[in-house]
Amino acid sequence: MDYYSYEDILSDAKKLQKEYFGLIECETIGYSVQKRKIIMLIMGCGYRKIFLTAGIHGRESINPKVLMMFIRHYAEGYYGKPLFSKYSFCIIPLLNPDGYTEALTDSNKAGYKLNHNGVDINRNFPSVHYRSGGTSGEYAASEPETRALIMAFKSHPSVMYIDFHSRGECIYYYRSAMGEEYNKKQRAIAEEITEGSGYAAVPPEDEIDTGDTGGNSVHYYSETFKMPAFTIETAPCNTLFPMDISLADDAFIKLKNLLCNIVSAIDKKDIYSYNQ
Ligand SMILES: [Zn+2]
Repeated sequence: MDYYSYEDILSDAKKLQKEYFGLIECETIGYSVQKRKIIMLIMGCGYRKIFLTAGIHGRESINPKVLMMFIRHYAEGYYGKPLFSKYSFCIIPLLNPDGYTEALTDSNKAGYKLNHNGVDINRNFPSVHYRSGGTSGEYAASEPETRALIMAFKSHPSVMYIDFHSRGECIYYYRSAMGEEYNKKQRAIAEEITEGSGYAAVPPEDEIDTGDTGGNSVHYYSETFKMPAFTIETAPCNTLFPMDISLADDAFIKLKNLLCNIVSAIDKKDIYSYNQ
């Protein structure tokens, strides 16, 4: 089965940086447990930064490709245009390169979500609902991948964060740890940024599954920075693992306007008064 490897991501990142010199920069924000580089591409020259991440769960293997497709599409279409003088996109295509590589290369591990220490990075962030133990890790931010993202957030103040997962073709916006005002804006922005995609907003009661814990990267972001944060789930619910890489094209086509939609939502919604 064809797949988009960790090495493919690194070499595509290099190409993009070369082709769009001055628009795209690539930096290493940290290293995984097995010492693989975790890279972040910064596209644009604007002071308003938007974070996009993928590949927190190893097996969700189409999203790194989808984010790299976004970068090429928008770099091609908007090079030298006003979009990138006002905005920058901080894009981390693969936060969990060890888990990703294990899920892709070991046929017994096609459903593997965790990092090399057996921790679910998306339950390891220091948020209100974080619970230690099991696959959440002994303590919050115990994992190098978790800390790499936290440090990237802290060194690049931003106005929005979207984390990509699979499956369901939907968007999570509700945060029980946040106030009513925050959630009202979240809902409105969620609808705006997914416009035209056919992705549905997940109802508040389904924010966290029964018995599950918090500690998601989006929980951490909204509670810490008080700015909008969403989870987008690509691919139909019934998609099997390993995921067929051609599903990346489907997801990209449906979500192609996402970055433009984000920018117009931010321009309209007075995001700077979000925490007041
Ligand atoms: Zn996931």
